Amino acid sequence: MRGPNTTDSAVGPVTVPVVIVGAGPVGVTAALLLARRGIRSVVLERHHDVYPLPRAVATDDESCRILQAAGVHRQFTAICRPANGLRLLDARHRVIAEFPRSQNGHHGYPQTGMFDQPELERLLRAEFARYEECELRCGAEVFDIEQRADGVVRVAYRRGDGETLEYLNAHAVLGCDGANGITRASIGARWEDLHFEETWTVVDVRTRAHVRCWEGVDQVCDPHRPATFMRVGADRYRWEFRLRAGECLDGPDGAALLRELLSPWLGTDRRDGFEVLRRAEYTFRARVADRWRRGRVFVLGDAAHLTPPFVGQGLCAGLRDAYNLTWKLARVLQHGADGALLDTYEAERKPHARHVIRLAVAAGWAMTGGQDRAAALRRTLMSLACRLPGVTQAASRDLSPALGAGPLVRRRARIRGRRLVGTYCPQPFVWIDGLQTWLDEALGDGFTVLTAVPPNPAVIALADALDARIIDVRVLQDDGVLGGWLRAGRADAALLRPDRVVLDIVPAAVGTFTDAATWAPLLCTAPGAAEIEGTRPETKPTTAVASARVS
Ligand SMILES: Cc1cc2nc3c(=O)[nH]c(=O)nc-3n(C[C@H](O)[C@H](O)[C@H](O)COP(=O)(O)OP(=O)(O)OC[C@H]3O[C@@H](n4cnc5c(N)ncnc54)[C@H](O)[C@@H]3O)c2cc1C
Repeated sequence: MRGPNTTDSAVGPVTVPVVIVGAGPVGVTAALLLARRGIRSVVLERHHDVYPLPRAVATDDESCRILQAAGVHRQFTAICRPANGLRLLDARHRVIAEFPRSQNGHHGYPQTGMFDQPELERLLRAEFARYEECELRCGAEVFDIEQRADGVVRVAYRRGDGETLEYLNAHAVLGCDGANGITRASIGARWEDLHFEETWTVVDVRTRAHVRCWEGVDQVCDPHRPATFMRVGADRYRWEFRLRAGECLDGPDGAALLRELLSPWLGTDRRDGFEVLRRAEYTFRARVADRWRRGRVFVLGDAAHLTPPFVGQGLCAGLRDAYNLTWKLARVLQHGADGALLDTYEAERKPHARHVIRLAVAAGWAMTGGQDRAAALRRTLMSLACRLPGVTQAASRDLSPALGAGPLVRRRARIRGRRLVGTYCPQPFVWIDGLQTWLDEALGDGFTVLTAVPPNPAVIALADALDARIIDVRVLQDDGVLGGWLRAGRADAALLRPDRVVLDIVPAAVGTFTDAATWAPLLCTAPGAAEIEGTRPETKPTTAVASARVS
């Protein structure tokens, strides 16, 4: 693909391990995750500052864990407000269903948190200063991505208003350039339409006035005026309303319409100290790219999938892409692992993203699905179903299901305990060197075997081949969380990938991993097989966990 102003007066090209197109939250997180593994990247961003208009406000505990892996969890926790969960309300704001979320989720954080996306983006960019491996070039618009026959990718970009194109060569390009970026087309991908398209207005408000609210997300299931409302901060609130044909908040009647829309929460007279911080109209769509990779060019985040924001998962899905891909890329670039490992990125992430988008479309359908009697009956039935024990918990849990079967996720029903494979290991607090911390802080960035029994030589040999730590869960003082998790999964030990997903287990009384023959060829590499310049060996934690290794 070639942009209109391409010239031959190139400056460069320099070769770097990774070029990232787009410094949205997904691109910047990917750069940080790579930097923590010692991999240099250059991020090219056409704008000079973060995107200022209202976008993501809700996150989940899995995303907080990914931000922890990127090193920004403490800063993020300071700007993130824990929320109670999600409620569905009828047109008169009576509760139809409530999906409570725990304040201490599986991943060690509140299951739902509220934040401001520009604030998150700024703190992510500030983190770049800590790593010489991260470089952000703002005002740099990418025009062309060309996959060469030798496997190197050439990226052409232009800075500011300059006419001259500059070039970078890369061993991999991550297209984090959002819904309208060029990377998707450069790999020949097209959108698969998941059939949702509606125009909504989004309003962020600051006010000290009393606002009728619940500390969570409210979705108003009123087919005449579906809406979403949530408290984002101490004095910050977010409303989203579906617009009717011909409605516009920018016109002369816009202020009156806005007042009318907000009146169920604020009353019509209570306008004291009321400030509209940002307002924008969006057309929400549900789409997945039909391919996520060609050679060494990948798409992530909104470049790969688009969802209506009703279950607050668009950005969360993009962060999962970055977490899933970066450790695999590091394994290939740093350790010379088989390039086929990179195929598992799309194989694992695309079905997962599609599942989450379908949930969001279903939530939209619950809010807006028809005005006839059948639709009213559906809402009543849904309300009744949500009162059944376990239904709301199951619905909450399914927001982020286990990874589907693939080369790194083998499920075999005849082996007891395989249900842990493809799921995330929980993240309890543990005690290390007399200090309490999150489990992942103690595990470092590589593979880990968590075991409840002394490992046998076969387990030790496989752990050595992956340079994995072996940690006896009994030394972690985690109130028995990990031991209980292994027991419930009928496993003596679990092998965790660097993204904390269970790769394999040692079933109780079996003694060794059951699927090493499948994953070992993709993951195990010869010592010192680092492939390219610009990468350094991963760092390991120097805590007492090292001495907790059992061998
Ligand atoms: C109203 C609304 C509410 C939302 N609410 C939630 C929510 O509650 N929870 C949630 O998880 N998600 C939510 N989302 C989704 C979330 O905002 C997005 O999923 C997220 O911003 C995607 O991040 P990204 O980095 O993939 O893409 P973007 O944030 O779009 O970043 C892409 C970047 O690439 C740059 N770029 C594009 N082309 C080029 C080029 N050629 N050269 C250089 N740079 C380029 C752009 O300038 C941009 O900075 C919401 C979205 C909207 C619109």
